[in-house]
Amino acid sequence: MASHFPDASFKDWNSWKWQLSHRVKNFDEFQRIFDLSPDLKETFLKASEGFPPALTPYYAALSQFNENLKKTVIPGFEELREDLFETLDPLEDKKYSPVTGLIHKYPNRVLLLMGTNCAVFCRYCTRKEFIRENKEILKPSFWKSVKNHLTQNPLIDEIILSGGDPLFMEDRILKGLMEKIESLEQIKIIRISSKIPVVLPQRITRSLLKTLKTRIPLYLNIHINHPAELSSDFKKAAEDLVRAGVVLSSQTVLLKGVNDDIKHLLPLMKGLLQSKIRPYALFQCDLAPGTAHFRTPVKKGLELLREIQAELGGMASPHFIADPKGGKVILAPQNIIRDNDQGVFLKSGKGTEVFYPN
Ligand code: SF4
Repeated sequence: MASHFPDASFKDWNSWKWQLSHRVKNFDEFQRIFDLSPDLKETFLKASEGFPPALTPYYAALSQFNENLKKTVIPGFEELREDLFETLDPLEDKKYSPVTGLIHKYPNRVLLLMGTNCAVFCRYCTRKEFIRENKEILKPSFWKSVKNHLTQNPLIDEIILSGGDPLFMEDRILKGLMEKIESLEQIKIIRISSKIPVVLPQRITRSLLKTLKTRIPLYLNIHINHPAELSSDFKKAAEDLVRAGVVLSSQTVLLKGVNDDIKHLLPLMKGLLQSKIRPYALFQCDLAPGTAHFRTPVKKGLELLREIQAELGGMASPHFIADPKGGKVILAPQNIIRDNDQGVFLKSGKGTEVFYPN
């Protein structure tokens, strides 16, 4: 990889700011690193219009020779296919957003969309549309509106920071936000969802670790999909986070042709536990536009989960979860009412019947 960045020193490579400022973003750069055929250019550019590509040099090095990881970062023709069930807002964020950037879908918790930046853009991203809209969320009025909403809803005791990637923010901004959250008596837990430890482990600096030392419990849910992502840099970042008192858990998206087999999921779940990261969620790929080629039938996911449980036991077995309209459903046999060739009918958390396509 160094040959693709001949001017990078060891210090540069280990600097998260250098990594971010040298992200691979256009066809020529992708072509150079992944040896893409010039014939792919037109499709690459069309798919990029729907959702821009970007990856850190670190993650480019990790995925350069891994066919499965490449599928998750290189725009391809499959993304141009339209699927009947896909929608721009698969999680119904707009419906549940009383304040721009705040999603209130469940009684006790709200999710704050911290921005539209990520270190790497995943081709299967659920919030493609939100990221593409590139809205400025962190305006001075944002916190005031969030605070008002929280005060009016005393049942809320947990804030989830998501996005975009919350760890993309500068420490100073993140620290200010943490202090504001901690100043609210009603908030007892902070949760952060981030892929940054996987795609930019250099971001886990001493200064960030200090920022993450909060008075109330902080859970970091790491988005990780493949055992190849359990690099030594990642493990060191996870170790540093654990030492700083952050509770680590994982979320994995089940992706066809990437990780939908036991030979990938077993070492991933085992490796996570060994790095003190509790496997928490295995997500069915959401119904975002251009993602049908990533979706695995729910029944296959259930079979994979059964195998994980049989091989590794409960500690290494995540919940298998889908997020259809109306809210999350744990995909377990008791929540599957019936199925057909098109998909499954699920019992939602509210007791209603919802369809989820294969
Ligand atoms: S890190 Fe998360 S929010 Fe960002 S592109 Fe990937 S899936 Fe989407």
